[in-house]
Amino acid sequence: MTQLTALLSVSDKTGVLEFARELHGLGVKLLSTGGTAKLLADAGLPVTEVADHTGFPEMLDGRVKTLHPKIHGGLLARRDVPAHVAAIKEHGISTIDLLVVNLYPFEATVAKPGCTLEDAIENIDIGGPAMVRSAAKNWKDVAVLTDASQYAGVLAELKGGGISQKTKFALSVAAFNRISNYDGAISDYLSSLKEDGTRNEYPAQSNSQFVKLQDLRYGENPHQTAAFYRDMHPAPGSLVTARQLQGKELSYNNIADADAAWECVKSFDTPACVIIKHANPCGVAMGASPAEAYAKAFKTDPTSAFGGIIAFNRELDATAAQAVAKQFVEVLIAPSFTPEALLVFAAKANTRLLQIALPPGGATPWDHGRNAQDIKRVGSGLLIQTADNREVQRGELKVVTKVQPTESQLNDLLFAWKVAKYVKSNAIVFCGGGMTLGVGAGQMSRIDSARIASIKAENASLSLKGSAVASDAFFPFRDGLDVVCEAGATCVIQPGGSVRDDEVIAAADERGIAMVLTGVRHFRH
Ligand code: 5GP
Repeated sequence: MTQLTALLSVSDKTGVLEFARELHGLGVKLLSTGGTAKLLADAGLPVTEVADHTGFPEMLDGRVKTLHPKIHGGLLARRDVPAHVAAIKEHGISTIDLLVVNLYPFEATVAKPGCTLEDAIENIDIGGPAMVRSAAKNWKDVAVLTDASQYAGVLAELKGGGISQKTKFALSVAAFNRISNYDGAISDYLSSLKEDGTRNEYPAQSNSQFVKLQDLRYGENPHQTAAFYRDMHPAPGSLVTARQLQGKELSYNNIADADAAWECVKSFDTPACVIIKHANPCGVAMGASPAEAYAKAFKTDPTSAFGGIIAFNRELDATAAQAVAKQFVEVLIAPSFTPEALLVFAAKANTRLLQIALPPGGATPWDHGRNAQDIKRVGSGLLIQTADNREVQRGELKVVTKVQPTESQLNDLLFAWKVAKYVKSNAIVFCGGGMTLGVGAGQMSRIDSARIASIKAENASLSLKGSAVASDAFFPFRDGLDVVCEAGATCVIQPGGSVRDDEVIAAADERGIAMVLTGVRHFRH
């Protein structure tokens, strides 16, 4: 049998040394680029540097390493076409049978806070994807490995006599998927910027492509048909990256509500729990632990929480799981579940458990690309806008009343503001002690939302005395403010910007409460 040749060129060097050692043990010749070659040579493995193989040095800070006919000819030549075999022989090109490549970490680089356009550009891999494409195109003759998780399976087949066509084809498909995602990430990132590296405030061109994930049993109602699609290039930490661990198939409404729950809970830095019913939060709380956050969130509105969608932004442990299992829950979402927590739900086979990894470093900077477009269908048309991912910072708040909010009031106000963003308009949210106390959602008048929020608090036997309240848009008249003050609120957060702001501020002063303006509105329809 002729000796096989493997070319190894990896940025993420996890497991590559062990893999190369095994390949060497099987008599495979090793070719490698600078950094990878050094790692193998330092471990005592015989390895030929690509530069020695091609007779051409790596240059331009590594921008050109493997872009050479001796490499691409060796990957692309068809072994079953005599003219190909003759051509490479004539030009002194030898075949490459195994390609092991993982790419410059573009996605991880742009996810880092403060990443510059220059850093991002230098992390666009050119030669790696070119080789991966060559090998994946010629999959009948070349096995292409683009992820360390593939090493073990390929080794086992090599030891068993050779890599099957089935595996080579699967590796080729995986390779093109990887390249497509990689290029998608680059395109998303660059579409979100202007040429000077500053953020492009306008939506990127609408070139979203979607892949069908599944047909759904029905839509919002049983007489409607429906399907679930995901973006070709999903943002890290988004709902479509979820893994369902158990439970019945997700329904249309489950998916919509799970998204609302997950988007809301992942906006918190500290342990938090969100309970959603019909797209609105009916309880949101922070706590020292998931169990405490859940207990507080549940207290807001125990009646509505029945059959809710519940999301956590921390690993779900047994204590929290046992508490949640006491109520009827449609979908339970967390970044991970302890084995003990899974055991609690093993007895409840219908409960849908979704595991979703939190995005690295919170909302990623390139989240602003097409992944973050918000699309709504209207009669024979589409409305497209950038997602509402504006986070008001403490420093942006403007106190407009004679009374200044205390530190703890400010914390409650910012919490209430965060929640209000996820409540359908008109939204009024009473909070205190890191939990919602009353949520008024989706009313046509702000004053009705205010009344409903205080009725809900009363129903749950929660006191609004001394509470903080958020209004997702300005108070058009002082009447809405009067309602929340009479309910017990002593501090208010709202955008401001009404022609009657003076009247509303005077009413707040008259009542001796503190009011801060955000200058930002969060309508949600
Ligand atoms: P090494 O650490 O071995 O020096 O470099 C490995 C990385 O270089 C891999 O991520 C691989 O995809 C990338 N690479 C291989 N050939 C080229 C090339 O010609 N140009 C560029 N820009 N990257 C390459």
